[in-house]
Order: sequence, then structure tokens, then C-alpha cells
Amino acid sequence: MDTRIGFGFDSHEFKPGVPLRIGGMTLDHPEGLAGHSDGDVLLHAITDALLGSVAAGDIGSFFPPGDPRWKDADSAIFLKLALEELEHAGYSIANIDTTLILTAPKISPIAGEMRSRVADLLGVEIDQVSIKAKTPEGLGLDHVAQCHAVVLVERTEEPEELKSMEAVIETQRQLEDVVDDLLASVHGVPKKRTITPVYDTEDIT
Ligand SMILES: [Zn+2]
Repeated sequence: MDTRIGFGFDSHEFKPGVPLRIGGMTLDHPEGLAGHSDGDVLLHAITDALLGSVAAGDIGSFFPPGDPRWKDADSAIFLKLALEELEHAGYSIANIDTTLILTAPKISPIAGEMRSRVADLLGVEIDQVSIKAKTPEGLGLDHVAQCHAVVLVERTEEPEELKSMEAVIETQRQLEDVVDDLLASVHGVPKKRTITPVYDTEDIT
């Protein structure tokens, strides 16, 4: 089986007065996560893991933070783009494992619902998505939410470039004709092909 691995990390600072968005859900909490988009630390880490699995860059290369279009954007948009990149490369998700690191709110009571939401966004089954959470013990980072994500992807089809190569090979004959014409015009090399008569000479009786 042809598999690849991807890893993603993200962090955002807590900020009063904004909704807390994690895993595509709005959580009941007095503070949200500061960010140019909705600050969804979990979806950002998964997006980077997906892009990383097919070496397609990272979230910042597709969605520069300074771009006003992504101001307060729903991070599900970023996830969808990463999925398209994955599909384009001919891969699909085998499974995803994540660890959120934050002091509050408690994630374990809602982890099931969050897994279900993320699985829906990714178009996979809930048992392909794991969401774990820890507190930032000893890190002195109680004002920050962090997330690590790892994804295993498996090849499901030929990547787009290979498909187009096949199309080229199918039309190899036409390609050879073009090359012959080019050689003939540039170097004065006579065409290799002999002109096929419109009738079969053997048939002339
Ligand atoms: Zn982020």
C-alpha cells in the first residue's frame, strides 16, 4: 500500500470578546482564540497535516494572514482546500490523530461530538478521527491553545499529472507527427513517415 504521513501544529492566544471555535464548533467559553480567521486551532493543525502529507505547502502559503478575504473566515474553508490538494495528488485519508493542549474548556465531554463534526467536514467515518486533549502542565502557556495533528494518507488513484501523462502517451502518434514536422521545418530533415496511399496497392488486380 502506498502511504504517506503528514504533521501539523498550530497555536492561538486566548482573547476576550470573540467566540471560541474549535473543531468547527462554537464552544461555550468566556474567551475565544485570537486570529485573522476564526482561530480554529484544531482545523488549522489538521489542514497543515493534510497539506504536509502530499508536500503541498502549508496553510499560510494558500491563505496569507494579511489577505482581507480570510478575515474571520470559517476555517472549514481551509480544510476543504487541503482536501482538494490531497485528492488532486491521488490520496485519501486513512486516519487522523490530534492532541489539543489548553487549560479550558474541558474537551473530553465534547470530544465525541467534535470528532463527529470533524469527520463530517473531512468526509470520513468518525473512527478515522481521534481528538485528545491535555492541559499545558509546566509550560506556562495557560493563555494559549495549541494543537498537534498527524495524518496517514493512502494512494487511491493516479495523481492528475500522471493521468495527463497517460493522455499524452495515448496520443503519442500525434506527438511524433508534430516532432517530425518540427524537425522537417527546423533542420530540413525529411519526414520519417511514408505517405500511405489512399488505396491498397495489393488490391489492384
Ligand atoms: Zn491557526
